[in-house]
Amino acid sequence: MTMLESNVDVLIIGAGPAGFIAATWMTRIGVKMRIIDKRGTKVFNGQADGLQCQSQEIFDSFGFEDRVQNETNHMLEFCMWARISRFTEKVLHQGRTEQFFLDHIKKHSDIEVERGVLPEALSVDMSHVEDTNSHSITLKLRSLGDEEATSQQAKGTGTQDGLFRSNLARDGTDNLIHKSKEQANLEEVVHAKYVFGCDGANRWTRHIIPLTDFPDIRKRFAIHSTSSSSLILTETKPDACGRADRSSIKPEIKPEIRPETIISAPEKILSPFTVTYNYCHRWTAYQIGQRGGRNFDLHQRIFLAGDAVHTHSPKAGQGMNVSMQDTYYLGWKVGLVVKGVVEPSILKTYQSERRRVAHDLISFDHKFSRLFSGRPAKDIMDESGVSMAEFKEKFVVDYRASMLVAKAGSSEHQGDGTGMSPSGGRKQAWLKSDGRFRIILFAGNMSSSSRKARAEAFCAALEKSDSFLKSVIEILTLYSIRRIDIELLNDFPVILHSWDEKTGWDYYKVFVDDQSHHEGHGHAYEKYGVYPERGYVVIARPHQYVG
Ligand SMILES: Cc1cc2nc3c(=O)[nH]c(=O)nc-3n(C[C@H](O)[C@H](O)[C@H](O)COP(=O)(O)OP(=O)(O)OC[C@H]3O[C@@H](n4cnc5c(N)ncnc54)[C@H](O)[C@@H]3O)c2cc1C
Repeated sequence: MTMLESNVDVLIIGAGPAGFIAATWMTRIGVKMRIIDKRGTKVFNGQADGLQCQSQEIFDSFGFEDRVQNETNHMLEFCMWARISRFTEKVLHQGRTEQFFLDHIKKHSDIEVERGVLPEALSVDMSHVEDTNSHSITLKLRSLGDEEATSQQAKGTGTQDGLFRSNLARDGTDNLIHKSKEQANLEEVVHAKYVFGCDGANRWTRHIIPLTDFPDIRKRFAIHSTSSSSLILTETKPDACGRADRSSIKPEIKPEIRPETIISAPEKILSPFTVTYNYCHRWTAYQIGQRGGRNFDLHQRIFLAGDAVHTHSPKAGQGMNVSMQDTYYLGWKVGLVVKGVVEPSILKTYQSERRRVAHDLISFDHKFSRLFSGRPAKDIMDESGVSMAEFKEKFVVDYRASMLVAKAGSSEHQGDGTGMSPSGGRKQAWLKSDGRFRIILFAGNMSSSSRKARAEAFCAALEKSDSFLKSVIEILTLYSIRRIDIELLNDFPVILHSWDEKTGWDYYKVFVDDQSHHEGHGHAYEKYGVYPERGYVVIARPHQYVG
């Protein structure tokens, strides 16, 4: 039998949230890629359900946030990222979120997830690893038979038990390879320039629809019980997947875990209120493990992302969100390197930027988990108890100096660099994820002749033949005087509202910080701290981060 052999620029292993973001980037940037998953079907319901503001900003920049808006339960009273973003936290089961990605990838390419395909061997040709054009990674892929690749969920037998992508069940990868070898399934050799390892941490999930007399079960809440373990209850939209219940089960009862054992935990915790169920839609159990990898890449050719390189408890609802952010922050870099637009050296910043985020999250999660397993604080003076007040500070990613971030401090070593400290908001509604860098020109008061002259001089410099401006850089302008006091075509240099033979002037690149008829006043200059008489220039990377 002749073995198939082919080349691809990027191979993504694992079609979970991290893999889907990577695939979406490749599709949008136009990179030749394949995405494989050992499972024969997608995940149907859980596991993650909390969509944080930044994930929604990412979806918005790809152009499908409206679907999240329509199909989710909006969490208005429980949001760790409030006021930083214009979005609130939302709840939607992971199966639906993954469907959004599948639809988006289909819209922008003819690529499909190759399911039931398992990598069996991987090697790196070290003699060519420095040559960015070389397909120096070789993988042997094996297509599984239907039986091995199909999860219980997909077979539709009985209650979905979360066996799919679980971490309490044994992974079974070796077994799958062994079985499929017996059946002489299709083998293939693929040579790739870059590989994304997004194959998760092998998990179990659980979902039950509870019937209870607990007051207002519609709200997301956490109960920290002194007598038993803890409970977080999240209601998702009934037409999406009903209510979800999660509770911590003591490890020693693992082997006997059944829906009846799971429901006994909330029974104790909610007492004197009662909880029972008529119909169990899906259940699973999950073992909390806080692990963070040391190396996030191998020779800046193979990258680990998501649960494959850091795991934490589901309690803070961060896993899927941070997994997606990993590949959101990495995908454009690999895409633009493959396209020859940026230097491969920027790939070093994946580890330096994301490892610290992962490790900070793990220590946050350690503390956060204690809220559920430790003794609750009696009051503000009770120092030995665990209090939610510790977590009232919002956190966002704020990278330190590197070759991509111009800040005080040495960028030479690209060392781990992020503090989880509050910083400015994002403007993702303008900043679409299409692989372009952006210059955002706060042109200020364009009715002042000196201010206008400065903006014109800046534009003239950008138009020079030796300017760094290329098609991968888009310029957006925000000016600060009343819209009716200025004439776009006369008062702004052409480079800010370019002309196209087919579509005419591009009016949609110039914005005003003024009262709108329907949406109030954004007060952008005031909020970003920009003086209209002085102006400002901001450079944003393709994933919106201000460098
Ligand atoms: C009960 C529960 C609740 C959670 N709640 C939240 C929440 O509210 N918010 C949140 O942000 N996170 C939550 N999480 C965490 C979240 O589900 C994970 O962090 C997230 O799914 C990780 O995404 P990933 O793409 O890295 O991995 P996964 O989602 O695990 O995807 C990995 C993919 O790789 C495939 N794969 C595995 N091995 C191979 C292989 N050898 N070859 C090919 N393919 C392979 C798998 O089939 C799978 O499709 C929760 C987790 C659990 C268990």
